[in-house]
Amino acid sequence: MIDNSNTWPINRSELVGRYRMPDRNRNMLLIGGAVMFVGNIALFLLIGGMLKTTGADSTIPLWFLSVVSVPVVILAISLAIWWQIKSRWEAEAPRIWEADGCICPWCKVDVRSEPCEAHGVEFSHRDLLVAHYASPMLDNQAAALKRLAEAVPKPPPRTRLSAGFLGWFKRQAETIRDHDADPATKKRATINVFLTWYALLASIVTIVILVVPDGMQYIFASGFSGWLLLVMPLFFIFNPISIGPAKCKACGQQCHEKGQEICSECGADLRKPGAVTRKEWNTRKVVKAIPALLVIYVLPFMMGFIVKQLPVPARQAIWGTIGPPSGYFFNLDLNTMTPVQIEEEANLLLHLARPEGPGIAYGFDRGLIEQALGLGLLPESYREDAARATVTATIELEETGGDRQIVVVPRIDESLLGNDGPRLAFGGVSIDGGPWSPGASWALVHQDLDEFWRTQSTVLAPLPEDQLEFRVPVDLDPGPHEIRARCWIVVDGPFWNRLELTFDADGNPQFPAQATDYDLPISATVEVP
Ligand SMILES: [Zn+2]
Ligand SMILES: [Zn+2]
Repeated sequence: MIDNSNTWPINRSELVGRYRMPDRNRNMLLIGGAVMFVGNIALFLLIGGMLKTTGADSTIPLWFLSVVSVPVVILAISLAIWWQIKSRWEAEAPRIWEADGCICPWCKVDVRSEPCEAHGVEFSHRDLLVAHYASPMLDNQAAALKRLAEAVPKPPPRTRLSAGFLGWFKRQAETIRDHDADPATKKRATINVFLTWYALLASIVTIVILVVPDGMQYIFASGFSGWLLLVMPLFFIFNPISIGPAKCKACGQQCHEKGQEICSECGADLRKPGAVTRKEWNTRKVVKAIPALLVIYVLPFMMGFIVKQLPVPARQAIWGTIGPPSGYFFNLDLNTMTPVQIEEEANLLLHLARPEGPGIAYGFDRGLIEQALGLGLLPESYREDAARATVTATIELEETGGDRQIVVVPRIDESLLGNDGPRLAFGGVSIDGGPWSPGASWALVHQDLDEFWRTQSTVLAPLPEDQLEFRVPVDLDPGPHEIRARCWIVVDGPFWNRLELTFDADGNPQFPAQATDYDLPISATVEVP
């Protein structure tokens, strides 16, 4: 074996052992992966069993299977990739050591006698090459790559790129972790990382919000990964691993001399790949990081307080996407608000309650519009908006045993108008512009469709199952048909008083005198096979 220890800042065993994981880490990964794998199978069996007993649908949804399997698959793939890289490196590294680093990092050509053709790497680059090969162990990879890429005549474009901006970012991080860098330099690097990272994030977020429709929703949907991106710079700063002098990996005893072969403390063979390490855990840094981690953890819970400080459009944009905290509307004091402010909040409420909106989680937050209308603080048109926000219907074509039915399926959310909740009345369907079928003598309110009210309440006698939708038997020829249904939203009085509907000779409904009604025409094209 050639003794190159005078040119190299690290030992041969460190170079060759670059991809060796400490046994403890590897065992943790393997055990963790195995537990995860077995746990997943157990989870699937458990859920499968539960589904079977309910009898509803005995298959686990595919998306659930894939989402739960992803971590195991990722772990297995990364272990395989790591294993391959490690084996390749351990075949290559002894050659690099013996050639005194004079191997082109890109085409693997020995450049001691003549430069490599593709990149122009030659013997005069020896020190830079050695520094490059030793850099992963000394935690100055990006800095060493940059120096090499600048000295070599024709580095690959990819390398030039990664020595550029991305490399700049990594170099800042390396400076932050560097034991020997002076505090002023470290501080500058820290500020650089923070400013660049958040400037980048802010521009991405701005672009997404401006360009993508409903972009805000995607940003909030990024959830945990978005949150990680947000706090990423903290990981650079509180990176608990730093690089110190070489030491025995087995017992931690520092190596007294370069190229030491046997650990003087535990007798370990330091020539074995990975027997020497320079990584050390900085417990003081870990302790320092605890408050920051606590803040990171607590921040989402302080969301309400933080968003409250924002200007109205930003605040409404956020609440309009993820839904406001409990009591948001309930706690508004209408007497201290201007008409414009009341309308803004009412609009937010309608935006949340819209059919595809995030909804309003708490019943006591639903009363804003009703209350403001009662006090004369909102235009009367909000009554209609509130009624329409919670009542819609869709048309479906159903076939059972050769009999076809048009089904008008109502969606009636919890009322925004208190107990005078809007009702849905049905006046028949018309097929391809033909005559209207008879209407229904009953109207539906939210409580009719709600499981709790149907089973637990004595206030309103539940309607039979088949009256919870409006069904019209039809006889349709094959082909497309245009179906229209005429419905009305009726606001007349407390929901517990049933509204009996009568229709005149022309099929027009006779609403009570005190009732307000809004047309709700719906239509759909159905295809009969
Ligand atoms: Zn080359
Ligand atoms: Zn030792």
